[in-house]
Amino acid sequence: MNTTAYPKDHANHVPAAKVAQNTSDDADWVIIGSGAAGAAAARFLAGEKQQVIVLEEGPWRDRRDFSANMWRTMKNLYRDAGTQVLWGESAFPMLQGCCVGGSTLFNSAICWRTPEDVVDDWIRDHGVGSTISKQKLDANFDVIERELNIKPTDDSVLGHSWVMRRAAEAMGLDGYVIRRNERGCKGAAMCVQGCPNGAKLSMDLSYIPMALNSGARIYTGARVDRIAVHEGKAVYVEASLAPAEPGGRRRILKAHARKGVLIAASAIQTPQLLQKSGLQSPSRKVGEHFQCHPGIGVVGVNPDDNYDYYFGATQGYEVDYRSRRFKVETISLPPELLAIRFAGIGQKLMRGILDGKRLVIWGVQARATAHGSIHHRALLPPKLSFTPNARDLEIFWDGVVEGARMLFQQGCKSVITGIYGMPFEVHSMEELERAKPRLTPGHFNAIATHLFGTARMGADPSNSVVNPRFECHHVKNLYVVDSSVFPTNMGVNPMLSIMGMSKLCTDMLLGA
Ligand SMILES: Cc1cc2nc3c(=O)[nH]c(=O)nc-3n(C[C@H](O)[C@H](O)[C@H](O)COP(=O)(O)OP(=O)(O)OC[C@H]3O[C@@H](n4cnc5c(N)ncnc54)[C@H](O)[C@@H]3O)c2cc1C
Ligand code: SF4
Repeated sequence: MNTTAYPKDHANHVPAAKVAQNTSDDADWVIIGSGAAGAAAARFLAGEKQQVIVLEEGPWRDRRDFSANMWRTMKNLYRDAGTQVLWGESAFPMLQGCCVGGSTLFNSAICWRTPEDVVDDWIRDHGVGSTISKQKLDANFDVIERELNIKPTDDSVLGHSWVMRRAAEAMGLDGYVIRRNERGCKGAAMCVQGCPNGAKLSMDLSYIPMALNSGARIYTGARVDRIAVHEGKAVYVEASLAPAEPGGRRRILKAHARKGVLIAASAIQTPQLLQKSGLQSPSRKVGEHFQCHPGIGVVGVNPDDNYDYYFGATQGYEVDYRSRRFKVETISLPPELLAIRFAGIGQKLMRGILDGKRLVIWGVQARATAHGSIHHRALLPPKLSFTPNARDLEIFWDGVVEGARMLFQQGCKSVITGIYGMPFEVHSMEELERAKPRLTPGHFNAIATHLFGTARMGADPSNSVVNPRFECHHVKNLYVVDSSVFPTNMGVNPMLSIMGMSKLCTDMLLGA
């Protein structure tokens, strides 16, 4: 087989990575996508001596491609350079990765197990109890947490997150030091640009190398455009390979799957790939029931001169308001993203950004209740639709109010909500409550990074796309292993759940 060693001088974590360059190949399993879902599937199948091919649309990226300059990072790591947008009554940016390791290269490494109430809902409302249980998932989380060194953020690198921790402890709130998949975090606060220290154990530095070392092959720059089905079974996939030389022609790769095809292209690309391949389910649910956790910002200015917003784990602490459907998380953002989160224009905006070191910026992650949809269009960009409903807007507001309450508790003189129609800053909780506008989706400046539900799992084929064994109801040997299959959103960060669910699928495929 014709392969080239890659990457030549990559970080030590990747001793034997190989990138295949064939135009026809076959294996037991063909996996589409190398993010949290695809990398976990590859690691756990290849680790059990199964032949595995991984097809990844994006390129290998490493520390040389990361940059403090957010534009350069977005160009190198993010899908469409970070310009994807969810359209509805307002427009929300949506961020995803397009590189080996997918979004895990620049996520904040927050690891949450799937909450029990979520698994209970899936079993009760979607009939997935024959295969999914909290106990089975927890057994998988035990393995993944050990392999990815998942542990609470060390106090020495909590940095800017101490503000929320102090507030939560003083106010008796449900606060947590965030657990993360990292080894040797130096608190560089640059997770969203890619870890400059190679500390974050993203998939390119963990499960993909493990899979390759167990014999898996990866094709990079390999965009799968079609899943071919014969007599009701998925048999091969067609990928368009990026030209080997600049200006060269794309080649077509046919990757044959002896046992099955696993789609792990994310909750946005998976439904589009099914639609493009003419594999809309009889239930017409592919691309429907899209759910997300919109993230909204709330900002304070810290009176403490010793405080440094640019030191500490990017996200190190959070307070959970589970029954009210939101969490408030600390976050450190580069100035370019700060400018989006920050309210104001002109001098006011510049003063705020230049004062960056003193800012306290927190994100409200809302477990929105609205459903959107994702649709491939042949000659147009995909139709990505989502509009938060009236209940969601109240959840966003509630999150901002609780964030502000903690900021004031910590001595911030003013809070900037960034909500359209509100004063630039408010100086007390009373002023905040008085200034509440009549909320519409356009009042909030939200970003979506947690995405779910577009090929959802269920026992009833008339209401779902895959069965509780992750196999499409309407196509044999075709499995969906990313968060497209999650019947609902979860109210917690999804990466660990995605890996745990992906392993649950491979456990079943291996007959465990
Ligand atoms: C900025 C940011 C911060 C985040 N922080 C956290 C966090 O701290 N904790 C957490 O739990 N979650 C976090 N998330 C979410 C988390 O990273 C994602 O939920 C998770 O990575 C999704 O896994 P996935 O495998 O479904 O998709 P991805 O990780 O996005 O990977 C999908 C891969 O499939 C590839 N692909 C797509 N289509 C094709 C195709 N047709 N052919 C071949 N390849 C294809 C893509 O290029 C991509 O590499 C964050 C996300 C973002 C964007
Ligand atoms: S906080 Fe900094 S050192 Fe720690 S994992 Fe993120 S980027 Fe790496």
